[in-house]
Amino acid sequence: MRIAVFSTKGHDQRYLDAANTVHGHDLTYLEARLTRRTATLADGYEAICAFVNDDLSAPVLETLVKGGTTLLALRSAGFNHVDLAAAADLGLTVVRVPAYSPYAVAEHAVALILALNRKTHRAYNRVREGNFALQGLLGYDLHGRTVGVIGTGTIGTVFTRIVAGFGCRILAADPYPNEECVQLGADYVSLDHLFRDSDIIALHCPLTPQTHHLINAETIALMRRGVMLINTSRGALIDTVATIDALKSGHIGHLGLDVYEEEADLFFEDLSDRVITDDVFSRLLTFPNVLVTGHQAFFTEEALEHIAATTLANITAVAAGEAVPNEVSVDRAVAGPRK
Ligand code: NAD
Repeated sequence: MRIAVFSTKGHDQRYLDAANTVHGHDLTYLEARLTRRTATLADGYEAICAFVNDDLSAPVLETLVKGGTTLLALRSAGFNHVDLAAAADLGLTVVRVPAYSPYAVAEHAVALILALNRKTHRAYNRVREGNFALQGLLGYDLHGRTVGVIGTGTIGTVFTRIVAGFGCRILAADPYPNEECVQLGADYVSLDHLFRDSDIIALHCPLTPQTHHLINAETIALMRRGVMLINTSRGALIDTVATIDALKSGHIGHLGLDVYEEEADLFFEDLSDRVITDDVFSRLLTFPNVLVTGHQAFFTEEALEHIAATTLANITAVAAGEAVPNEVSVDRAVAGPRK
């Protein structure tokens, strides 16, 4: 198939080219992010390949279909950025990479916890300045602490396994409890119970209309003072402004983010020569107890290999008219109204 690959970075091209040796697709790499303005670049391409911050709203999908596109291949697990109702109306097939490396994301979530708790990010800078004072670096033992895991799917289960290894008590919330997590000692409780009793809360559920701003002023008020909040899932699970208020009051003690609700205009680009105009994001960066990474949790060699191999296998299967288990089925109840 002729495929226009949007938001291409050097690593995407390297791993897709390697995987394509067994598929032989015709890949055109575009650095541009897919937006209303760039959608016409896909004219004449049967398939487009998109990443997490590409715009897959109804107007963009309409332009793609007008240009002859029939297949949308996501090189991500999350598909919250696709207007699935519009895709279904337009007859677009949508495929994704459901699980490429749950270890990559779960391990990054744990890295954020360890760094925030033991202030590694601050210690790194201090030692380089010749400052060996310990003041402000006090952490706590993770052993015996209570970790709340929201969403115990593929990533949440790996995360649960790791924190169980630290000797943490685990509370879990998921509409579909997972036997492996129960075996690891997780207690499935209501979200309110989890918010009230956790020292650390990690978000591993998808972004849906139901989970949008799951963390807000009301739910933060239920949490323990000094709680650590970790989000490696999707930015809009958290109401960032409410979270900043809670950081200012000390209610939230630590915040670790790999995702941010307005990340599309920031992440994956080198903006070090520019002024950041997002005041909410800039405020986040002023807190010593906030650690932000730019959507890098997935970024391991194993994950990139899996993403490339699965993306191209999905496209090959669609081209051959085979059933594709990784097709995103459109459940309007989940997809919500057309955006
Ligand atoms: P998954 O589908 O395997 O698991 C998600 C789990 O969340 C499921 O068990 C589901 O039942 C549960 N869930 C759904 N709604 C819920 C709710 N309201 N409350 C509690 N639980 C709920 O997905 P996964 O592969 O584990 O990925 C989880 C999320 O991680 C993805 O949706 C994606 O947004 C994010 N992700 C981030 C990165 C990154 O680089 N930062 C990479 C991959 C995935």
